[in-house]
Amino acid sequence: MADPGATLLARLRSVVGSGNVLTAAADVGPHVTDWRGRYRGAAVAVVRPASTAEVSAVVSACADARVPIVPQGGNTGLVGGATPHASGDEVVVSLVRMRRIRAVDPDNATLTAEAGVTLAGVQSAAREAGLRFPLSLASEGSCTIGGNLATNAGGTAVLRYGNARDLVLGIEVVLADGSVLDLARGLRKDNTGYDLKQLFVGAEGTLGIVTAAVLKLYAAARTQVTALAALARVGDAIAFLRHAKQALGDRLVGFELVSDHALALSRKHHPGTPYPLPGHPWYALVQADDSAEDPGLPDRVESMLGAALERGIVRDATVASSVAQAAALWAARDNISEAQRREGPNLKHDIALPVSSIPGFLDTAERELAAAFPGVRFVVFGHLGDGNLHYNLSAPPGTAAEAFVAPANLERAQRIVHDLVAARGGSISAEHGIGQLKRGELARTKAPLELEIMRRIKAALDPAGILNPGKIL
Ligand SMILES: Cc1cc2nc3c(=O)[nH]c(=O)nc-3n(C[C@H](O)[C@H](O)[C@H](O)COP(=O)(O)OP(=O)(O)OC[C@H]3O[C@@H](n4cnc5c(N)ncnc54)[C@H](O)[C@@H]3O)c2cc1C
Repeated sequence: MADPGATLLARLRSVVGSGNVLTAAADVGPHVTDWRGRYRGAAVAVVRPASTAEVSAVVSACADARVPIVPQGGNTGLVGGATPHASGDEVVVSLVRMRRIRAVDPDNATLTAEAGVTLAGVQSAAREAGLRFPLSLASEGSCTIGGNLATNAGGTAVLRYGNARDLVLGIEVVLADGSVLDLARGLRKDNTGYDLKQLFVGAEGTLGIVTAAVLKLYAAARTQVTALAALARVGDAIAFLRHAKQALGDRLVGFELVSDHALALSRKHHPGTPYPLPGHPWYALVQADDSAEDPGLPDRVESMLGAALERGIVRDATVASSVAQAAALWAARDNISEAQRREGPNLKHDIALPVSSIPGFLDTAERELAAAFPGVRFVVFGHLGDGNLHYNLSAPPGTAAEAFVAPANLERAQRIVHDLVAARGGSISAEHGIGQLKRGELARTKAPLELEIMRRIKAALDPAGILNPGKIL
């Protein structure tokens, strides 16, 4: 009798060509380990289709063989969502060969991209048309638009433009039986029943494989100002955020909070990183953009900072005087995740809270965590303008990082942090998703009825449970 594994591999090879069915350990390796090196799995094969028709045929072949699929884009996810399980009985479907920009429509202000186009590729295609795709993440050179939609990615311009969910008008998806659901419409108004495309946004590949998307474009930024402010405490950062919103209105695009410790890590692992306002516990990185040529914007930002200094909510401030200086300030912020990876494993939390409750949360969390893990170090930064903090814990001095991130410590830290978050009406995942990392915590913290509805949707769209099993639910 034919070996069912060999039969499936032969069918997959006939769809995508043998060069795109990877089975050698060296080829499969990078696809079965996550970006942080935290999750390691195994796979029957990594399959790389190049078109929607090929994705459809690959999914049909896997569905017939009852072999589960793990969709994968740039593999930059931070919760183990794109990593197969250790059982080795799953097929990774990598979308990286689907990298065509199908259309740019400047009059409709839309761009249609295949799932495997990197976020930087989408941004640059929009720029070439004189427009802007405003989603922006530190991983944008590697992450894909399919992955961005599957995780409902956030990033540094959510304050002004929203998450990936707010930036998508249409989507093309391959369902669990291989059928193609074509919702790739470029409409800003379409009230014809349920908005099905949004089901697949943030679903982390558990409901379908995104193969293409119609994205919203905006006017390009013609004037940009970047400023850094030094702050004594987080409460001041919140007062400063409110002040900056009032002074700059819609021009305020990004407002990032960074602790001095997080910036120190960035400098340690990326020599040459600037440190223009040394010696303060907290910093806010502020981005103001205008789609018009506005020579007055730098002055408006300066006077906004001056008023904040006068009111005592900011201790010191500087405005980047060149594009290179602005880029260096942003690099200091963007490099924190990479610096943390180089520093060694840590316990990560990606939380959202009502902005007003953040100082109280930080005080209580620090007290409770310091009692549970004496000497623990806090690496706190994030998109304060969106109420989103990356609240990460590093091992106390003298404790090996690997020992510190042991499952028992992870569970204990997550409970402390997430209980405080839940008590304040927050979310245990602001932008990274659930994946494998927070599956247990989702089950513990989500309302039973919400979970039940999620399970029913999953069962309706993927009755055999072959799409990214064991992720989210
Ligand atoms: C340095 C760094 C900085 C980051 N900063 C941010 C940030 O500011 N904001 C933020 O939101 N995230 C951030 N991330 C996390 C990550 O980059 C995002 O989650 C990104 O959207 C993942 O895209 P990807 O293509 O790498 O997806 P992958 O990691 O390959 O996959 C992520 C999830 O999406 C699913 N998936 C991937 N492609 C598809 C598809 N075509 N169809 C269906 N499912 C699919 C996978 O199964 C998995 O569950 C950062 C990561 C790094 C490494």
